[in-house]
Amino acid sequence: MPELPEVETTRRGVAPHAIGQRIVAMRVYDPRLRWPVPPDLPSLVTNRVIDRIDRRSKYLLFRIGSQTLIVHLGMTGSLRVHTVAPPRRPHDHVDIELASGVTLRYHDPRRFGAMLWTDCADEHPLLRGLGPEPLEPAFDAAYLYGATRKRSCAIKLALMDNHVVVGVGNIYANESLFRAGIRPTIAARRLSKPRLERLVVAVRETLTAAISKGGSTLRDYVDSDGNAGYFQLDYYVYGREGAPCRVCGTTIRTVRLGGRATSYCPKCQR
Ligand SMILES: [Zn+2]
Repeated sequence: MPELPEVETTRRGVAPHAIGQRIVAMRVYDPRLRWPVPPDLPSLVTNRVIDRIDRRSKYLLFRIGSQTLIVHLGMTGSLRVHTVAPPRRPHDHVDIELASGVTLRYHDPRRFGAMLWTDCADEHPLLRGLGPEPLEPAFDAAYLYGATRKRSCAIKLALMDNHVVVGVGNIYANESLFRAGIRPTIAARRLSKPRLERLVVAVRETLTAAISKGGSTLRDYVDSDGNAGYFQLDYYVYGREGAPCRVCGTTIRTVRLGGRATSYCPKCQR
């Protein structure tokens, strides 16, 4: 599933080919995504210019004047740049054709993604009420301390709650907690400010490392149908149940938290 680093990498891969470009056509081959693609979307975007592409949480925001095309990649979605559009494959659901001749093609086998239009992105139900971005200054120890004081749930669940901070999915929550030396099951409200400070730093480091790995795949966004943008770090704990800790050699343990596999080192994480 694309997590924040994959979405940010998609943004960086697509932006140079799309920004400043006029949309000459949008073709919706199958509107049945997580929410139906609005029937009037092609007429709304045609002949408009893409001013900017932002990212909020895992949403790509194509800024078109004061309005916004919201794109979400769901579980299996991808957005690719084609200088010459190849024949459509199964699961190619939407093409956005630009004046330069470039086609942005949305592919999504499971169709859990979204392509929506809004006059005011800040007030859109999917975006309103989201917590701060993990790489922005608003996400700091003082904020996280305040946000977790009344939360008796496990810190890992708090970290994965979009109201606390956006875009920290299962993989990056596991890895960040390892880097911070924090046991994922500990009650969020029991963590001191210094420990939360370490966690903030760890979240930033983990995501930044993944985004920089993604940078090496940027050219794969152009004229490629491959799985560009799905990159793996050398994980410390994620997916390493039963393996020795890379730091101390203790066997990595896995429990379920909120239905998700949660791996930690019993010695390094207290
Ligand atoms: Zn260890």
